[in-house]
Parts: sequence; structure tokens; C-alpha cells
Amino acid sequence: MQLHLFKTARKWDSCLLPIDDNTLGLILQFRVRLVRIEPGSRFFMGSTYALGDGFVMDEGRRFTLASWNNREWEAYQREFVRVVQRHWSDKFVLIPNKPWYSPRPGAPLTAAKINCGLSIELVLSDGNAHQTYRIIHPTQPFRSFADPEGRSGLFTHTDVEPEWNTSMTRMGRETHSVSFYQIAVNHEFGHTLGLAHVNGVGNSDWNYGVTLEQRENQLGLGSRLTSTHARPWINRLKSHLIPRTHADSTVHFTGTVDSLQLIEYWDNDWQPPEPTPART
Ligand SMILES: [Zn+2]
Repeated sequence: MQLHLFKTARKWDSCLLPIDDNTLGLILQFRVRLVRIEPGSRFFMGSTYALGDGFVMDEGRRFTLASWNNREWEAYQREFVRVVQRHWSDKFVLIPNKPWYSPRPGAPLTAAKINCGLSIELVLSDGNAHQTYRIIHPTQPFRSFADPEGRSGLFTHTDVEPEWNTSMTRMGRETHSVSFYQIAVNHEFGHTLGLAHVNGVGNSDWNYGVTLEQRENQLGLGSRLTSTHARPWINRLKSHLIPRTHADSTVHFTGTVDSLQLIEYWDNDWQPPEPTPART
């Protein structure tokens, strides 16, 4: 197998680094530009736009914009990098179906695994940014979105903070009101990585899941990562590993989640089980 250590591309760069004889790291590297949107800013993103008159129009609805202060903006940029890297980096490991990696010339092949990393570097100009996110400070709730094809997104000042989304959710045979913990930028960054909603492409309630297992997914209403979310690393790995032999071309990798996952929902309709009457 021939290894390409560095790969540059439009949406993100990547780097494959040997760590030891049995481990390599694949790091997706994003240059991100965060654009501070003020009430006087103008921009156009399809049906969402601002004309510099203090408002953002989004699909015919008008949202009032507040100003950022400098301290708040500095803190937001730091938090954005910290929150997204902490959530998406070092969460998955790719496991090969067979030995494939030769750590040294002549050494026997090892079934080396691949650790999945992600890094973000903030840049100041659109020219060398992979992704450009506009950050607004609306005075009422606004539904943020990422546009993976446009390598862009529109997020709010609260999107780096956790919030609870409460929604009717199927729990076995019953339907309960359940609250899910999610940080919006981590969900949106999933879209940037090319991931669709847990129940398929679209923004209907159904796309965010029906069952508890779907709802608590990071690409539903919650924060839970599954092996499906390792797909961006598996896809990119294909451009780092160049098969030289027929055996090389039969190597493939499976994504696994390799970090502790917390239960991050609250069932508002939970009832304690009826106590069993004591036998007399
Ligand atoms: Zn979404």
C-alpha cells in the first residue's frame, strides 16, 4: 500500500500520520472563517439575506439583529474552535478487515487502526478558507443552518452553548415528551462533514428522528455519536491509501465509536414503576 500523507481539497485538507507500528492518525483539517455580522452588514445566502438595515430575512421572516461587543466576539471564536474540536476529534477509530500496513521496508504487515482527528484553524480571509460561517446576534430564536455544498453556514451567538430541545418521542410502545441536550454548532458541523439527518435529508420533524435512539443522535436532536458518523474519515482515507497490489485493493475499514458516550436526554413523562405489593 502506498500512503499519501497530505491531501488538499476544497472542503477540507487532511493528513495521515504514522503514530506507531499499529496506529495511524487521519486528521481532517479545516480552515474556517467566522464572519461577524452586525446590524449594518449585508449578505446574501439564497432565501436568507441582510440588507444592512438591522434585520436578517429568512424565508420571508424578519429577525432583528443586535450588535456584538468585542469581548463577546473574541470569546465566541475561541469557544467555536474548542467546542467543535472537542466534540468531533478523537471520537472514532477505523478498523481494517485484514493486515495492510508495513511500518518499515520488509516488516510484516500489521492490521493498523486509524484514529480519526479533526482540527480547526481560524482564518481572516475568504480566499483561503475551506468554510465560511456568518455569525449573527438575533434578538429572537433563529434556526441556524449549514450549507455543505456552499461551504458556508449561518449560526447565532448562542450556538456554541448547550441547549435542551424538547420533543415528543417514541419510547417503546409509548410516546413521551423528552428533552435532548445538544450544542447547535456540533450538529451543524456534522452537515459540513457531509452527514445528513438521522432519518434522511430534509428538515421535517420526522427527519430528526422518531424513536428515542434516533432522536438522541447528533444528527437528530441530541449529541450521541454512532459509527455512521465516521463516514467522512472512511471516505477521505480512500484518497490517502493507494493500492499497489490486488491484496491492497481488498482492504477496507469499518468505523467504530471509541469514546465514552453519556446519556444526554431527560424523559419528562417518566413514571416510577408501581411498587409490587408486599406478600403477606
Ligand atoms: Zn440539521
